[in-house]
Parts: sequence; structure tokens; C-alpha cells
Amino acid sequence: MARLREYERKRSKGRTPEPFGAAGRAGGDPIFVVQRHDARRLHYDFRLERDGALASWAVPKGIPREPGQRHLAVHVEDHPLDYAGFEGEIPAGQYGAGTVEIWDRGTYELLEEKKDGGLTVRLAGERLRGIWTLVPAKLDGDEKNWLLLRKQDDADGSVKAKGREYAPMLATLAPDVPSGDGWMHEVKWDGYRAIARFAGAEATLTSRRGNDMTERFASVARALARAVRTPDCVVDGEVCALDDDGRSSFSVMQQGKGPLVYYAFDVLEVDGEPLVDLPLHERRARLAELLDLRDTTVRLSETFDDGRALYEAAGKQGLEGVIAKKADSR
Ligand code: MN
Repeated sequence: MARLREYERKRSKGRTPEPFGAAGRAGGDPIFVVQRHDARRLHYDFRLERDGALASWAVPKGIPREPGQRHLAVHVEDHPLDYAGFEGEIPAGQYGAGTVEIWDRGTYELLEEKKDGGLTVRLAGERLRGIWTLVPAKLDGDEKNWLLLRKQDDADGSVKAKGREYAPMLATLAPDVPSGDGWMHEVKWDGYRAIARFAGAEATLTSRRGNDMTERFASVARALARAVRTPDCVVDGEVCALDDDGRSSFSVMQQGKGPLVYYAFDVLEVDGEPLVDLPLHERRARLAELLDLRDTTVRLSETFDDGRALYEAAGKQGLEGVIAKKADSR
């Protein structure tokens, strides 16, 4: 298909697992897909089925969620229809090298098509439901630079949590490790508590007292922005410095030494939906799904059922103690 010539020119069959075929479709509503593409620059690829191929835009900040919000969408070459099901690794050296994951998919309804190519669509996906408009805005004089806008939609009844403030859950000192069922135990991390807020694929870090620590821990903020699998969420955790044995150490932190890492232990909001009323064990399951842990700067604070054993192990390693949390707590 002539429309796919540019796609085929940029890629070598056999060297990339990306699809080249264009299997027919059974009919029904046209499809859309959004793929998270962790390439040299992290972005989200927005694709709409149009005349037997996928019209495609690369959106560096992810799909805008708030009505009125607009994000740059760089128009790229059409992709074959089969690409809508593609997830995997594009090897180093190949075009778009990096990891592709499907972030959302579904069908859409074309509400309007303008003479200049502008499109208004109603998306029916798992995460995205509502109306978006693509405008060929030619930002900076470049005709590839479109805008993707979220439109107001009366049918959109989702809970909005924009700008919601979250106070970190605090610990109470106890003389002993609690026994009995229903507790989850973690190492007590010895660093700086930091709530990480992600917006448009950038992360900011806020201290317990509400101070912005993003600049101070810029390397951690950058790693976090790549490690979450969605552009909008709020995560709770601790920035730690590691000593030579890989243990979190506050004195190493104070000396400004050691690699910095982030131990994530809770997720408070995803895609504008607050999760703080879910039980902790459910939030932990969401957190595990959310994080891509291939870059070891971002780690999941492991949980243990046996608090007593963890306490003894932590003591032997010179760590401060353990944190016990009720598994069903909000
Ligand atoms: Mn891409």
C-alpha cells in the first residue's frame, strides 16, 4: 500500500519485530490505539484507523485528560493496521529503538472532519472515553506539529482529582512488631519521604512538609518519569542514598554520596482517579503494574508477611527497623 511506503522505508523486515502485514478487518467501528513508546524520548503514540491504515501522531506528554487541555501531537507516518496489536522491543540500532506497550485501545466515532484535515473523534477505550480534537496547527511553522485537545464532554462522569493534595501516611512508633494476620511489613527506608506527582510525563517530588525537591533529586525525578506506565499519577515513596553494600543510608545521603534511588511503596492516584479509598493491598497491586523496574533507580519497596523475621534481618543489616501497615487500610 502506497501509504505505508514511508513506514517500510524506515524499517528493516527481520530486524524489528514490528508488523508489516495489513490483515483485513472484520468490520465494525474503526479502532484506535495508544502505545507507550519508551524510546530515546519517551512518548505516547496515538493512532486512528483511517482507510485501511493507522494515521499516527507522537504525543510527548501523553493524551490530555482535562477538558481544554492541549498537547503537542507530532504527525508521523501511517502505520499498518496490524500495528494496533503490537507490543515489544524494537532492537537497538533500529528505527524507534525501545519498548512499545499498549496503553489503551478501543473504537472511535468520527464526529467531524475538517477541510484542513482536522479531526474530532469520540473515543471508547478502557482509559480514554470522551471527545478529542486533532488540529493541524503547524506550530513553529512545521506542518507535522499538530495539537491534540480534550473537549468538554457531558457524558464524561469520571472522578476528577486534578490538583488534589495528598498528605503522606505517617508511622507511629511501637515497641514491638505487631503479630497476627492482616499486616504487611516493609523495611523502614532511611532517606527523604517524597510524593512523586506525574503530569504530562514529567515528575515532581514533594517532601513531607510540602517542599519541592525535584531539582535536588533531579536524577531520581527523571528516572521516575520513565518508570511509570502512564503520564498522570501520584506515587508515594522515599528517596534514598545507597552505601557501598547497597543499603539505604541517611549518612551517605547527608554526605551527598552514593547512588540515589527511589523506593516506591504506595500509589495514590492514577489517570485522575484517586485510589486512596482502596485497601492498601489493592493499591500495592496497582503500584506493581504501574512501575517499569528495568532502570534500578526506581524500586518497589517489597512487602513481607513475617514482620518478626524481617525485623531481625533488618537489625543484622544495621537498618533502623520495619514499618507495619494494615493490608486493608485506606
Ligand atoms: Mn513512537
